[in-house]
Amino acid sequence: MANTVTLADGTVLPALGVGTWNMGEEPARWPEEVESLRYAVLNGVQVVDTAEMYGNGRSESVVGEAIYPYRKKVFLVTKVLPSNASSQGVAESCRKSLRRLGTDWIDLYLLHWRGGVPLGETVEAFKKLQREGLIRHWGVSNFDTDDVYELDGCSRIGECVANQVLYNLEHRGVEYDLLKTDYRRKIVTMAYSPIGQGQELLKSPVLADIASRHSTVLGPATPAQIALAWVLRQNNVLAIPKAASHEHMKQNLAARDLELTEQDLAQLDAAFPPPTKKTPLDMI
Ligand code: NDP
Repeated sequence: MANTVTLADGTVLPALGVGTWNMGEEPARWPEEVESLRYAVLNGVQVVDTAEMYGNGRSESVVGEAIYPYRKKVFLVTKVLPSNASSQGVAESCRKSLRRLGTDWIDLYLLHWRGGVPLGETVEAFKKLQREGLIRHWGVSNFDTDDVYELDGCSRIGECVANQVLYNLEHRGVEYDLLKTDYRRKIVTMAYSPIGQGQELLKSPVLADIASRHSTVLGPATPAQIALAWVLRQNNVLAIPKAASHEHMKQNLAARDLELTEQDLAQLDAAFPPPTKKTPLDMI
């Protein structure tokens, strides 16, 4: 299992981070969400991913409350919407995100997906924020291979440090060429929805079968842990499962210790075949 990833500037990060989409939506769940994020940070997670889009900023507010006592332990990631990706829009969105997050800096600022603003304009806006010390790194999200090539026209290798894309057993298209393209440009691939949003994927009998052969410190392994360990096996990939429930968070952290065998991997390849040709990048 890949335990860490290394950014272009040498920063080493644990390969298991956490996501926060849908957090902050239900006031009654807020305390559990804060607690779950704090548990993660106190147990070795550094990357916490959010976005201005999630709950119109409410996810950023939950994250801000959760990480406030531990800010320096956290590698904080948030995203600007394509509709705010102009020079002025990026500057304004970043300042609003900083306020909601209750911090002076963002560790990694991502363009959420491609929109109408020329890529070069957004990249220049990111570089300006970097010079101002408001963001440490910048990156992109939902960029397919051609989009990554386009970055060559407006940035040098090593400047864009991450590409956050959909990657799980049901969505393996990135294995065809995108993972390699990212790696060659020193871009870490961040896998979103790594456990299939907790839906159909987790009902797979194959995952249940493999889980029955493994255990963690918490007891028998679960299908979600196998799905997560499978994403974490990849070099240069950082996974950001979201768990508002404390129990789910504990299980996800315990998945770091799972080692899938050749037999497990072959069984998963048979049930969820790897790509044999290029397909457009899947998105949620
Ligand atoms: P995930 O694959 O992380 O699944 C999250 C769901 O699975 C939640 O309902 C959660 O429940 C449940 N769950 C978590 N752990 C377990 C477990 N051990 N066993 C069973 N169920 C579990 O989906 P997301 O779509 O949330 O993706 C992760 C993150 O990636 C997002 O939160 C967001 O930060 C990012 N993202 C980025 C996108 C982009 O365009 N850049 C698009 C989509 C996501 P509960 O919360 O109740 O614990």
